Order: sequence, then C-alpha cells, then structure tokens
Amino acid sequence: MVNQLNNKDLHHVVIVGGGFGGLYAAQKLANAPVKVTLIDKRNFHVFQPLLYQVATGGLSPADISSPLRSLLSKNKNTEVLMGEVMDIDPDQQTVQLRYREIKYDSLILATGVTHQYFGNDWEGKAPGLKTIENALEIRRRVFIAFEAAEKEPNPQRRKDWLTFVLVGAGPAGVELAGALAELAHGTLKEDFRNIDTSQAEIILLQSPDRILPVYPPHLSAKAQKSLEKLGVTVKTGVRVTDIRGQIVTYREGNQLEQIQARTILWTAGMKASPIANILAERTDAQLDKAGRVIVEPHFNLAKYPNIFVIGDLAHYEDQEGNLLPGIAPVAMQEGEYVARYIRNGIQHRPLSPFKYVDWGNLAVIGKHQAVVDMGWLKLSGFMAWFVWLFIHVFYLLEFDNKLIVMIQWAWSYFTESKGARLITTPGKDPEIRLEDDHETVIYQASLQQDLQKVASEVAIVNSQKGSEDNVSNLSST
Ligand SMILES: Cc1cc2nc3c(=O)[nH]c(=O)nc-3n(C[C@H](O)[C@H](O)[C@H](O)COP(=O)(O)OP(=O)(O)OC[C@H]3O[C@@H](n4cnc5c(N)ncnc54)[C@H](O)[C@@H]3O)c2cc1C
Repeated sequence: MVNQLNNKDLHHVVIVGGGFGGLYAAQKLANAPVKVTLIDKRNFHVFQPLLYQVATGGLSPADISSPLRSLLSKNKNTEVLMGEVMDIDPDQQTVQLRYREIKYDSLILATGVTHQYFGNDWEGKAPGLKTIENALEIRRRVFIAFEAAEKEPNPQRRKDWLTFVLVGAGPAGVELAGALAELAHGTLKEDFRNIDTSQAEIILLQSPDRILPVYPPHLSAKAQKSLEKLGVTVKTGVRVTDIRGQIVTYREGNQLEQIQARTILWTAGMKASPIANILAERTDAQLDKAGRVIVEPHFNLAKYPNIFVIGDLAHYEDQEGNLLPGIAPVAMQEGEYVARYIRNGIQHRPLSPFKYVDWGNLAVIGKHQAVVDMGWLKLSGFMAWFVWLFIHVFYLLEFDNKLIVMIQWAWSYFTESKGARLITTPGKDPEIRLEDDHETVIYQASLQQDLQKVASEVAIVNSQKGSEDNVSNLSST
C-alpha cells in the first residue's frame, strides 16, 4: 500500500467529502491506476436517510454510521484523511486543510449541503436534521421535553412541553413527524406517571399546498392521511414568519397565527456547503439560487476540467433539462460516473455521457406506512413500507453493522420499543432545572414578552394588510 501511495508518477485523485458521492467515487477507483486521497471533516460515513431514527431514539448513531477508514481499508491505493478543506487553489492544484496543503491532479468535491434558514437567525431555536450531531441534539430536546412535562405542575406549561412543531414536510419532515407521533402515542405511553404522552401534539407546517411535493398528488394525499391517522396535525399552505422564544408565528391566508411549543424542529430548506462559495471565488464557477455549483455534462468546471463537483453540492441538469434531485442515488451514480470518467481519461478510453437511472422516491411514515414512486410503480401503505425497508437494508449492506440494524429493527417492530432514548448531555440545558423557581419566572416573563411582541406585530401586519386591501379596493374600483 505504501509503495502505491508513494508513487509520485501516479495520477492523484483527491476526493473531498465521504458522503454517498465521495464514497462511491472512491470505491469505483479502487482498482484504477491512480492514488486516491479521501478527505472528510468527520471520520465516518453517515446513512442520512435513517437519521430520523437516531433523532427519535430508534437507532444509535453507530447503527447508521461506519468509519471511512474501515469502509475503504481494502482499497490499497486509497488513504483517508480526517480534516476540513478550507480553501482551494485551482492554479497550483492544491486543497488547503487547516495545517496542511495537498496537491491533486483531479479534484472531486462532494461536500453536500447544510440547512437553509432563508436569512433568519432560527438555527438555535429550531435545529435541523443533517448530521449525527443534529440528530443527537434533536433526540436530547425531544426526551428532555417529555421529562420536563412529567415534572411540570402548570397545565399550560406542560402542554407547551408536549407540543412539537416541525417546519417543512419534505421526506425528512414527514419521516420525523411520523416517528415522533409513534413515540408519543405508542412507545412512551406506559412509561410516565404524571403525563399522558398520547396527548402530545405533533404539528407539521408546510408552505406549499401539499406535503411531499415531489410525489404525485395522490401519494401526497395518502401520506397526509397516514400521518393524520398517527395523530400528526398537518397544516399546508402556511408560511412561518417568526420563531421567537417558544412561539412559532405563521401566516395562513390573511391571518397570522401562533403556536406555543417547547420543541421546534426545522426540516424546511437546504443550501450548498461553504465550499461552493470558495470555489466560485477561486474559479468563477456559477452557482444557482441554492448556492449549488452549476457543472458541465461530465460534472467538471468549464474553466478547470480537472475539478469535479458531484452529489447535493452540484447543480446538474439531465439531457431533458431536468435538475437532478438531492438524493442518495443521484450522488452515488454521479460519484461512480466521475470515477470512471477520470480512469478512462487516464487510459484514453471513451465514456458515454452520464445517464441517471431513476429508482424513484421513497418516504416512510411510521412503522409500516410509506409512499413509493418509481414511475412505473406507485405504492402506499404496507407494501410501500416493505419496499422501503428492503431498499434501505440493501444499501446498508455496505455497513459492518447491517445485521445489528436488522435485528434492532425487527425487535422494535414487534415490541414497539425504542431502545436509544438517551439524554446524554442534560447539564447543557438549563431548562431541565424545572424545580428552580427562578428559572420558571424567567420563562414566564420571556413568554409574556414574546406574546406581547408577536401580538403587536400581528396588529401592525394586519393594519398594513388592511391599508393594502384598501389600496387594492380603491384601485380596482
Ligand atoms: C434527514 C435526511 C433524510 C434523507 N432521506 C433520504 C432518503 O430517504 N432517500 C434518499 O435518497 N436521500 C435522502 N436524503 C438525501 C441524501 O442523504 C443526500 O442526497 C446525500 O447524502 C448526498 O450525498 P453527498 O455525497 O452529496 O453529500 P453528503 O452525504 O451530505 O456528504 C458530505 C460529506 O462531506 C463532508 N464535508 C463537508 N464539508 C467538508 C469540508 N469542508 N471538508 C471536508 N469534508 C467536508 C461531510 O462531513 C460529509 O461527510 C436525506 C437527507 C437527510 C438530511
């Protein structure tokens, strides 16, 4: 291994990001006449489609993660480096880590996306679900909410603890809402003495007029019905305008409405990771509205054909001009294609253009409900759930822990248990000290302030709305 990696004559491929795109590119280059360096700021790969299970205590982080080193240990031409790429010099052909510079012949960027709060400062109030750390933070907040409610004598405050608001009803929001509903209305029902967890309210807010908008309308409708059956309140066509303290304000038609909730989760939007901006500055690469890098048909940059961008970070349009979605199969296929493109280039062999094979969309809603849209096959209900399970287990086959995950799933399926309901950092959250009167007074005061602020804003907006209406009435007469 050392010899091959030390061979200075070999073409050096540097891959940044060990998610689906980067990992599949590295795997495809295993037997190519190149040396490969895969850099990731974490030392593990995450199976993101199951993050919601970690966030709701169904699986542990290690069940859905695998060390990059062990995943790539058989690839003798590959080294793995843990580090964050901070800069790129396309003319010197180097990437800059915090304390080290690495030279490349070909560079594959696959750093994915991060949350998008559309310019609002809501991240601390409403965490998103993208990383293991996010999932653990959500898990902490969810289980602290139940613990706090159990100790809370005041009915209104208890209700606030038992209200969970999710903003955004794409697949992640739908999956998380379904799992939370099952948790509250099923798994936890027997575990508490002072609260009835089935009274918990799970409210899913969605700005478009239906949930899962990438699915055909009838599957969206079925998914909504399944969620409602689980006890989730779904509100579509509503736009969140503010998150402050424990209050979510949203606009529904002409009205501003409020929900008081101690747990607010964000599953609404994504934007490209910061590497995209760095790349744009250094190479004049064009970015789309979400900050993704617009790439050429072979995923490279027009000005720097040895720099490739793949996966969620890339804006790639197929032959029909359709933008490929930010899902795992797209990232995997792009990773494999770029690896083949580089290998064939070195060997002077031709390669046909990239063609995405669409396996369709899947979203799970609770224990045995899902929706599947594979174009030729559209399913909902139990059969769809079975297809979802099969595909996820199939992809987890790459992981050492597949057997554990399968056994755990089977166990929790039959027993309805969720074994990873751990609060691992209680000291971090001052609000867990509920018996502290001082804390409660501060909470009440801040809640009052929030309510007053929001109420006055509602009044202003409504009065403005009134004058707008008057103006439009005048102009239409
Ligand atoms: C909650 C959730 C549920 C999902 N469910 C599904 C689903 O059911 N089906 C589906 O197909 N898709 C799903 N997706 C989308 C899917 O996970 C992504 O499309 C896929 O992960 C994209 O792969 P990627 O390689 O582009 O990026 P990622 O998998 O996000 O990997 C990016 C990697 O880059 C690393 N990185 C970032 N910046 C740097 C840096 N500066 N230096 C070094 N390393 C860096 C990160 O640590 C990470 O490992 C889901 C996503 C989420 C968040």
